[in-house]
Amino acid sequence: MRTSFSVVIVGAGAGGTSVAARLKRMSPTLDIAVIDPSEFHYYQPAWTLVGGGQYDSAKTRRPMRECLPHGVEFIPGRVTAFEPDQNVVVLEGDTRIGYKYLVVAAGIQLDWDAIEGLTDTLGQNGVTSNYRFDLAPYTWQCVQQFKGGTALFTQPPMPIKCAGAPQKILYLAADYFRKHRIAADIRFFTPGPSMFGVPFYAKALDRVMSDYQAKACFGQKLVRVDGPAKTAYFEITTDGVKSIQPIEFDLLHVVPPQSAPRFIRESPLADAGGWVEVDKATLRHTRFPNIFGIGDCTSTPNSKTAAAVKNQMPVVATNLMAALTGQGQTMTYDGYASCPLTTSAGKVMLAEFCYDGAVTPSFPMDPRSPRKIYWWLKRSFLPYLYWNIVMKGKRWPRTHKRRDFPEALPSIKP
Ligand SMILES: Cc1cc2nc3c(=O)[nH]c(=O)nc-3n(C[C@H](O)[C@H](O)[C@H](O)COP(=O)(O)OP(=O)(O)OC[C@H]3O[C@@H](n4cnc5c(N)ncnc54)[C@H](O)[C@@H]3O)c2cc1C
Repeated sequence: MRTSFSVVIVGAGAGGTSVAARLKRMSPTLDIAVIDPSEFHYYQPAWTLVGGGQYDSAKTRRPMRECLPHGVEFIPGRVTAFEPDQNVVVLEGDTRIGYKYLVVAAGIQLDWDAIEGLTDTLGQNGVTSNYRFDLAPYTWQCVQQFKGGTALFTQPPMPIKCAGAPQKILYLAADYFRKHRIAADIRFFTPGPSMFGVPFYAKALDRVMSDYQAKACFGQKLVRVDGPAKTAYFEITTDGVKSIQPIEFDLLHVVPPQSAPRFIRESPLADAGGWVEVDKATLRHTRFPNIFGIGDCTSTPNSKTAAAVKNQMPVVATNLMAALTGQGQTMTYDGYASCPLTTSAGKVMLAEFCYDGAVTPSFPMDPRSPRKIYWWLKRSFLPYLYWNIVMKGKRWPRTHKRRDFPEALPSIKP
């Protein structure tokens, strides 16, 4: 096995695969190795739809090798350490791979065990999560089997990947209950102070919640689950004092706490929070100039989404090639992310924004109005865009731009 490459990419998910493909397009002879322990590549954004009974889970998974571009060396393995002074990454079993340039694209870590009792009961007792490929179909089963009662949906502290996903499944479930005339006490729990990080969209989502008569419980964090007793325990902080409140449920959808992957957090590449410390515009490491980062594992203060990866991919590839060849233009990333909020099975509120919460929709219509056309976009067009354009390293024209809208909410019919 070769042990040294011009470019090594750690992680072959959305970020790693798309950058590998883009680099190969820019320089077909460039020798690139991609390292990943997973047998499969997952299109995670559709897991929300799977949980809502609107998408086939089998279509969200493809064999890893089929997704990687031709001519790229795939090294199946798990990276355990970085030695940036030696230009080496270390794999499980102590294999050492050298590089001239490194791209870190290892995603975010899901900390299931941070909630006491959760792993013992996931997939049974009405406890589920769309954050696992194998469990998203169980979410749909739980929704269909719900005969009335209490349905709880939880969001952990930020940052998480797809900050909208914890509430998207609430809306899909609420829509199903409403259409089937099932009486439900629906509650959403978040340690945060609002429904969404961008106030412009948060106010519109308050309206969606009240349309479903769902209750938002702010400042509350899930800390323990007792599956057999169907009871969830929430930590509530009031005036700096913490207390625990038990709530019985019939359905519990949990989004796990998330953090920087441990092998990155414990490496010289990490910032104080454990993330790969890159410049938020160039995506180049602030201390190791031959290292770039992309996607959920970096320190950039954007919303961690595949939509962000789509726009980061050309930036990383262009800047890496400029550094490698000493010529060519450079690019910057503006923090773009998008969150298609499935307000019902049939409509989406398409939240698009950049750094500092700048509202930057692709279309001139008020993005706070849920629309059928965005549902089509989410369910049909975006999977196409992901597999056939972004994962192939092709560039998609920039469509988003800053636009102003009146403060008053438009018509919001989920
Ligand atoms: C339920 C859900 C809904 C979502 N909805 C949306 C949405 O609507 N829109 C949107 O844009 N985004 C959405 N996302 C987020 C989106 O999927 C991620 O932001 C995106 O996949 C990030 O890409 P990434 O390359 O950083 O990480 P990933 O795609 O997760 O890939 C990381 C890769 O790194 C590999 N890896 C991990 N550790 C190591 C290691 N030690 N060594 C080598 N390789 C390693 C993993 O195996 C994996 O293949 C959603 C995610 C979920 C879970």
